[in-house]
Amino acid sequence: MKSLMINQKRRGNLFVLSGPSGVGKNTLIDSILKRNADIKYSISATTRKPRSHEKDGVNYYFLSRDKFEQMIEEKAFLEWAVFCGNYYGTPIAPIEETLNAGIDVIMDIEIQGAKQVVEKWPDAVSIFLIPPSMEELERRIKNRRTETSEEIEARLAQSLIEMNEGRMYDYYLVHDNTEHTVLEFEAIRLAESFKVNRTDWDRVIDAVKGDFNA
Ligand code: 5GP
Repeated sequence: MKSLMINQKRRGNLFVLSGPSGVGKNTLIDSILKRNADIKYSISATTRKPRSHEKDGVNYYFLSRDKFEQMIEEKAFLEWAVFCGNYYGTPIAPIEETLNAGIDVIMDIEIQGAKQVVEKWPDAVSIFLIPPSMEELERRIKNRRTETSEEIEARLAQSLIEMNEGRMYDYYLVHDNTEHTVLEFEAIRLAESFKVNRTDWDRVIDAVKGDFNA
């Protein structure tokens, strides 16, 4: 019965994940994607420089400022924002295609972008990821060794501002232990998939009725 209901959804669900820099959004999303082959990751575009392990077209599309600004003009983004001096944006075409094919999408975007997505796509499920403590967040950012000390300071200051915005999200998750947090995400996803307003109810009735005639 459970799978019957899930199969009646109108289109894929969009999960918007935000949280302070260093909270471990990438780690969490990697684990979510490993366990849930039926979710697709939305690859963002950015003008920031790639980190050593990052690949163009996998982690991000790394673009020049000119190219990014051209795409803004062409309205090629579902949303975009400036974060710590760099542009970040979500190309709209792949998202629409995937959701229309009935496949769920997860995106990792900061708060200004998340607000734009929820405005344009009210069905989106927004989730705010928080660290167990600020001390832990600082430790994680420093261990990453990808930012200068000024950048770390800027990101930590930004984190406190961002924490206040968490209240506008649908759900929050505490990223203490990735395995647990993935299970909590899956619980949210499952609950969302049973929402009546996401369901093609006539198809549910047809499926339940089958050949039955009163
Ligand atoms: P990072 O430079 O650490 O990869 O990302 C910095 C911030 O940009 C993170 O909070 C991340 O969620 C956000 N971000 C990544 N992609 C996008 C995007 O397409 N749009 C917006 N608005 N933010 C993004």
